[in-house]
Amino acid sequence: MKRRRILAQLYAARESAPGQFRAAAVALAVSALSVVGAFATVAERQAPAIDQVALIESIALSPSIGSEAESPAFVREERIERGDTVARLLERLGVDDDQAFEFIRTRPEVAALSRQLRPGKTVSVRTSAEGRLLRLDFPLNAKVAALIIERQGEAGALGVSERDIALEARVLMASGEIRSSLFAATDAIGLPDSVTTQLADLFSGDIDFHRDLRRGDRFALVYEMDYADGSPVRAGRILAAEFVNQSRVHRAFRYRASTGQESYYGEDGKSIRKAFLRSPLEFSRVTSGFAMRFHPVLRKWRAHNGIDYGASIGTRVRTTADGVVEFAGRKNGYGNVVVVKHAGRYSTLYAHLNGFSPAARRGARVAQGDVIGYVGATGLVTGPHLHYEFRVDGQYRNPLAMALPNAAPLAAPEIAAYREQVEPLLSRLNLIRSGSLALLD
Ligand SMILES: [Zn+2]
Repeated sequence: MKRRRILAQLYAARESAPGQFRAAAVALAVSALSVVGAFATVAERQAPAIDQVALIESIALSPSIGSEAESPAFVREERIERGDTVARLLERLGVDDDQAFEFIRTRPEVAALSRQLRPGKTVSVRTSAEGRLLRLDFPLNAKVAALIIERQGEAGALGVSERDIALEARVLMASGEIRSSLFAATDAIGLPDSVTTQLADLFSGDIDFHRDLRRGDRFALVYEMDYADGSPVRAGRILAAEFVNQSRVHRAFRYRASTGQESYYGEDGKSIRKAFLRSPLEFSRVTSGFAMRFHPVLRKWRAHNGIDYGASIGTRVRTTADGVVEFAGRKNGYGNVVVVKHAGRYSTLYAHLNGFSPAARRGARVAQGDVIGYVGATGLVTGPHLHYEFRVDGQYRNPLAMALPNAAPLAAPEIAAYREQVEPLLSRLNLIRSGSLALLD
């Protein structure tokens, strides 16, 4: 079964129950978890050796375990890319349905789909586990209108309509535990990819998601999802998140300051943005697949003077902090290398690059997260990887062992309002963690 780019995993029976707003929202996205909560309690009392995550996965994949559950549906969304065809787009969306392809090819009412394949537009589909198209939402030029192809019932015929879509934002909760990789854990609970990458991005100043994750790490989050006609169509932003990495607890809460600016802060009101990202590689489903995920024995730092990241050629390399490009060019064993000078005594180096981005010009200002080049295998290497060095006064240092400065904290007058907003989110996180979701159900 294709499980890539899953936006949400739903259970048809739950979907039709409107219920109270909060409880219904929870049941929709994490119906599997409420069952797990119950299992977990039993497991603790009787057989502590039972792997709780294994339960999460088996429940998520076998909807028949849940009493009300019927066949699962998958919601995926994709951005249209330059040069896309309808067929290519549907393939990326996991649609494996000849009848749907034929319908789209031959029905004149659907012609807008192929005429308006504008790059950047987001298309979402709902399919059965086998890839049968249940619904497709295609935004038309006017932002509020959409072309909707919908199947009448599980085995029914396809129909098409154009309508205004009223989006309804709901707040959902989810939690999971890392067993093999972050994406394996988020797939198991049906968390949308865009929420997973937001989660990794939120904590990118504290956690190197390519190297620091360990089996048993846990996360819990509260996030928004846009619904249209009762179906989730687009994942929104994270409102609150907790990530327990190697027993260290990291928390982040979204807050809109009185200036209107939104940002994420820790429980204490300090910004969770750090002056340096932990990793120069952005975290994605693709980059997460490399062997660096679990490092049983970390390479001896001093012998090596840098951190190596296995990644395929062309993977984007970001500068880990604001600064000025000091060098971009070829340097013996480093191959193509970029050196960025940062505030204070810090500089960073990115080596063996396949090529440079336009931003990587000597003397150019770069902001944290800007792409400066692409992973390659230039210089003295045996295979493609990124060699990353962190330097203080020109000396190699281990960034993981250093306390690095934070971005600005909330202004004192904001703290009271912040605490008021954070309080209910914090209790939600506690609720998810303790597995008491079953009570809400
Ligand atoms: Zn190296």
